[in-house]
Amino acid sequence: MDAVQRERYSRQILFPGIGERGQEALLQAHAAIVGCGALGSFHAAALARAGCGRITIIDRDYVEPGNLHRQWLFEESDAAEGIPKAAAAERRLGSINSTIQVRGVVADLTASNVADLLGCAGVILDGTDNFDARYLINDFAVSCGIPWIYGAAVGSYGLTMPVIPGRTACLRCVYPEPPAGAQPTCETAGVIGAVVSAVASWQVAGALMILCGHAAEVRARITTMDVWGGGTRQIDAPQRDPDCPACGRGEFPYLQELARPAATLCGRNAVQIQERARPMDLGELKARLAPLGEVRANDFALRFVLAPYEMTIFPDGRAIIKGTSDTAVARGLYAKYVG
Ligand SMILES: [Zn+2]
Repeated sequence: MDAVQRERYSRQILFPGIGERGQEALLQAHAAIVGCGALGSFHAAALARAGCGRITIIDRDYVEPGNLHRQWLFEESDAAEGIPKAAAAERRLGSINSTIQVRGVVADLTASNVADLLGCAGVILDGTDNFDARYLINDFAVSCGIPWIYGAAVGSYGLTMPVIPGRTACLRCVYPEPPAGAQPTCETAGVIGAVVSAVASWQVAGALMILCGHAAEVRARITTMDVWGGGTRQIDAPQRDPDCPACGRGEFPYLQELARPAATLCGRNAVQIQERARPMDLGELKARLAPLGEVRANDFALRFVLAPYEMTIFPDGRAIIKGTSDTAVARGLYAKYVG
């Protein structure tokens, strides 16, 4: 560390948990952030300011005006120009800390690119909005022994849990299968920025501990919070399940695309999302989507029009998304409106 760095990070170095050795480690460290929406924006800015030497940001989406109230990194001009979030983040982080390496990757994280994108990370931060991506991260992280930190927020409620492979329960120990049915999302249930930064702060603190050499001190617990009239609660995460498919039996179906719903082109300008065993209550989903666009449903299908897209969702969770031939866009829409 040179004198300029020592001054820049001086208050952090004074903090005994980090110190000069921790800061040195941080300057050499690599963090990967999957999803650069509200959580990921916060992770990226906080880690860049803290001096994390390499940051990789993966996101498949574009900045929109409806992101700006909670996604700290982005500006009106990013939304006006429809810049990809990963590219906008890379540019902004360059002006927050020009001495670190930042790589913004505009991509959908999949089984085929996960090893390239996350392979050399010291920690992975979850900034995603769907269980598909989280199960993929979990399979990859557990199979390679990379710590990752789960985080989620909707409304005024959020939760986070660190996964330290080999020591703490993994995501599939706690949730062996993805939840059934449609889930509340920021698009259907709303969200306030305050809960996102609270959850993201817990995630960043865990990441700093891991990157500064204190992974053994990260406590295996689930932290939940409701910043609007509720409180913060922490419970010990369950013990590792010896029969867990991922960390117990070493089965990683998400790495082989076996468990992840396939997104396939279907006609010239449509993509099919083939969910498996995810029964949907179409009446309930209709009620959630009704304030957002034109929606019609019967026992066999729900049709939701959100120009220029049209989604048809079936009771088994399958969907056809018209208006795009890009599977990443289709997956993004499904995650936003179905969960
Ligand atoms: Zn497990």
